[in-house]
Amino acid sequence: MSSSPAHSLKKRSPRARRERRYLPQPTRQSRLVLGLGAVGSAVLGAGVYAQWLLVEPKPYGQWLVLAGALLLAAVLWLGGTTAHPVRVGDAGVGIERGSELTRLAWCELESVKLTQGLLLLGGKGQLSLSLPLDAHALAAARVLAEATRRVPQVVQLSEEERRRLGTPQDGAVPQHEVVGVQVAGKPCAATQRPIAFEQDARFCLNCGEVYLKGKLPSQCVSCGQATDGAAPTEAG
Ligand SMILES: [Zn+2]
Repeated sequence: MSSSPAHSLKKRSPRARRERRYLPQPTRQSRLVLGLGAVGSAVLGAGVYAQWLLVEPKPYGQWLVLAGALLLAAVLWLGGTTAHPVRVGDAGVGIERGSELTRLAWCELESVKLTQGLLLLGGKGQLSLSLPLDAHALAAARVLAEATRRVPQVVQLSEEERRRLGTPQDGAVPQHEVVGVQVAGKPCAATQRPIAFEQDARFCLNCGEVYLKGKLPSQCVSCGQATDGAAPTEAG
C-alpha cells in the first residue's frame, strides 16, 4: 500500500446550483376551468351530432355548436390566467408558462411585496413576477424565506404579512440542479464585458449575479457575500 497525499490537494469544485419546482395547487378557479372544459366539449359534441350526423338535422344543433364553442373559448381565456409551475432556488424565482421559463435572479429583485393575495416580485428592469397565494402557498413561503436570507433589503412585508405566509413547509418537494439559464449576452458584473457562451459564466451562489469565468471576485459586487462560482449545468 502506498499513500499519495498530493492527490488530496486537487481543488474542490463548487456545488451545482439547485432549485425546487412547485406545481400549482387546485383552486376554485382551476376547478371551474376543468368543469367548463368538460361541459363545453359535451355541448359541442351534442351540437355536432344534432347538426351534421343525424339523417334529419335538429334545428337546435347550430345553437349547441355555438354554445359549446363559446364555453371552450371561455376555458382558453380563463386558463390563461390560472397559476403556472414555479421554481425557487439558487437561480432566483422562475415561472413556467408552457415551454417558456421566465426567471428573476435574486440580484435582479427590487421589491418583494404582498398585495391582494399575490406575492409580487418587482425586478430592476421591466420584468416582474407574481405568485397567487391560493395556488402557491408552499412556493410563496419559500420565496419569502430565501429572499429574507439572500437579499433582505428588498423584502417589504410587515410582520403580520410574514406570519400569514409562514415558514417553508416544502420538505417533500425535491431539489433539482438548475438548467437552462439564459446568460449569453449578459454583461459580467465585475468587468461589464458580455458573456458569449454559457460555459464562460460563473454565478454567485447567494444572489445569482453572473460573472465571466476567471473574473469572479472573492466578494460578490451585488450582495457582498463570498463567492465560489457555481458553473452552469448543461441543459439536457
Ligand atoms: Zn451575490
